[in-house]
Amino acid sequence: MLKGKVSLDVTQLDNFEYDMSKCIKCKGCTWVDHIYMPGVTFSTRCPSATKYLFDSYGAYGKMRIGLAMLEGRLDYSDELLKILYACTLCGACDVGCKRNLDLEIELTLEALRIKAVRDGKGPMPQHKKVAQNILTKHNRFGSPHQNRNKWLPAGIKPSPKAEVLYFVGCSASYTSPEIAQATVKILNASGTPFMLMPDEWCCGNVLYSVGMIDEARELARRNIEAVKKTGAKTLLLSCAEGYRMWKVDYPKLLNISTADLGFKVVHLVEYVDELIKKGTLKLANRVNLRLTYHDSCSLSRLSEPWVPWQGERGQWGMVSPTLERRRGTNGVYQPPRDILKAIPGVELVEMIRMRENAFCCGAGRGTKEAFPDFALWAAKHRLEEVKAVGAEAVVATCPWCKENFAQAVSQNGDKLKVFDISELILAAISG
Ligand code: SF4
Ligand code: SF4
Repeated sequence: MLKGKVSLDVTQLDNFEYDMSKCIKCKGCTWVDHIYMPGVTFSTRCPSATKYLFDSYGAYGKMRIGLAMLEGRLDYSDELLKILYACTLCGACDVGCKRNLDLEIELTLEALRIKAVRDGKGPMPQHKKVAQNILTKHNRFGSPHQNRNKWLPAGIKPSPKAEVLYFVGCSASYTSPEIAQATVKILNASGTPFMLMPDEWCCGNVLYSVGMIDEARELARRNIEAVKKTGAKTLLLSCAEGYRMWKVDYPKLLNISTADLGFKVVHLVEYVDELIKKGTLKLANRVNLRLTYHDSCSLSRLSEPWVPWQGERGQWGMVSPTLERRRGTNGVYQPPRDILKAIPGVELVEMIRMRENAFCCGAGRGTKEAFPDFALWAAKHRLEEVKAVGAEAVVATCPWCKENFAQAVSQNGDKLKVFDISELILAAISG
């Protein structure tokens, strides 16, 4: 709607007609803020536009495509679907655009994928296979459901009843068990009783990311109900992708606020940061590393709480009632940095593109599944930045980032080390 009633409902593309039509092609969604730009090498924020070097792949291209589709001037083609899905939905464009115009770019990109699925064109064939895995085996890999808790280390006993519930997620359950193992050992060492879901299912992150909103909503309802039944007050995650799904996309799917979920959603870094600052957890052992921290998109600019909004758009695009824009500034940026700085022996060096300006690793939102070469290209591009600041290791807060970086390092034959932050915290408390 250019004027009149409007909301943030991503199932209706016309809610974003104004946003699509007011894109002025300034490319603030592609270039990082000029004050940070050190030269041409690390000057872009959009993986898709940087890789494919064609305007259609940038957010500005997708805004024009969306508007043309809404107005019936453009139909689907294989190339169009590639443009919609060879995008990491990383939110860098949204943050960049809101420096100037406050257009809702990320929501428009999500709405375009939902429309593609509703029109019977999306998602990509590889996504359908993952969706099938999630719906039938409750994990994105299609692994046996009964193996989900096999990561649990001997000697660690989850409580039958506790205030904290650790939601492990598919990646840490099946392909990155070291993250789940480090997480429960940290909780154990801090004296935090925790429980696991009685029957944990995938969070459905990929379903929502590729536009399969009905299936994602059903899973959201099931999972939220399952947490409520346990009586948990805090849902703790060690996966940034899952964190965003529970904290932002579940409320978005159910048209409620994050505050109304009935429990608090926290990432391990928020929890541990608090424990360290309260003196409950001591990072006493040295970890001698010069490292850099990679801001996972879903823990940083995409993680601000969700608040539903509906209202009117009037003259000059002004909306009422006031819409509290999600500009990425209130993401989780400081806790992981404070944790790393508290580890004796760690020297934290920052990359040029950090916090809201961070360059996505390329793994999330259906990219790794449908465009594995693009996902690896993005990781390799980011690793160049890691090397440029002289770090010997890169640290992430998400198994998706860790796995993608590790694969890129191995393909490159680099000497770089890749860690999840949970592994370093564990090393600092247990030696
Ligand atoms: S920053 Fe916003 S207005 Fe500028 S080109 Fe990108 S989407 Fe369009
Ligand atoms: S979400 Fe990320 S990859 Fe997609 S257009 Fe925006 S900046 Fe580019």
